[in-house]
Amino acid sequence: MTSTPTIGVLALQGDVREHVSALERAGAQVRTVRQQDDIAACDALVIPGGESTTMSRLAAIEGWFEPLRLARAAGMPMFGTCAGMIMLADTVLDARPDQETVGGVDVVVRRNAFGRQVDSFETNLSVPALGDEPFPAVFIRAPWVESVGSSVEILAEITEGTRAGTIVAVRHAGLLATSFHPELGPDVRFHRLFVEIVQGRR
Ligand code: GLN
Repeated sequence: MTSTPTIGVLALQGDVREHVSALERAGAQVRTVRQQDDIAACDALVIPGGESTTMSRLAAIEGWFEPLRLARAAGMPMFGTCAGMIMLADTVLDARPDQETVGGVDVVVRRNAFGRQVDSFETNLSVPALGDEPFPAVFIRAPWVESVGSSVEILAEITEGTRAGTIVAVRHAGLLATSFHPELGPDVRFHRLFVEIVQGRR
């Protein structure tokens, strides 16, 4: 597919509006996904940042996990940021005991991993897949990736300070996940990368 893809933003909870705006700027047709029937109208799906325990609880109560897992298993590309990354992870540490995920990304992530002292911070990341220009990344009570399976491509690690080497962006086939919030800044290169993944160009 090389035409304009329709990308849904899961509107259960979180920063939906910011993703809609970033995806539009990245050249996608965007649809907010509020009903399960909306999933089938999309070529791909974004799971926003927010609070993964709340998102998981709402998804369980409203019966979203099955249609989301089916769509993912059928090959629908998905992009999760922060809480969305947690939702796409196969394994979550420091999760609530009943917390479920859609899964699909063969990683172990740890919730709220950066700790209280550095609840929120911004840092420039080197992301070779996006070119030479560093990516300004906003972290808010972010998870990190503690380990990755052999099919997972690491897109970015923290480069500076005591957390240097921490994995914060990954791709596993058509699934993209970041610890941080690319939807909160002006730089839409992660959203453009996702559009290109959906189009089969990357
Ligand atoms: N700490 C949140 C969680 O566990 C994620 C925070 C975010 O998405 N900004 O879901």
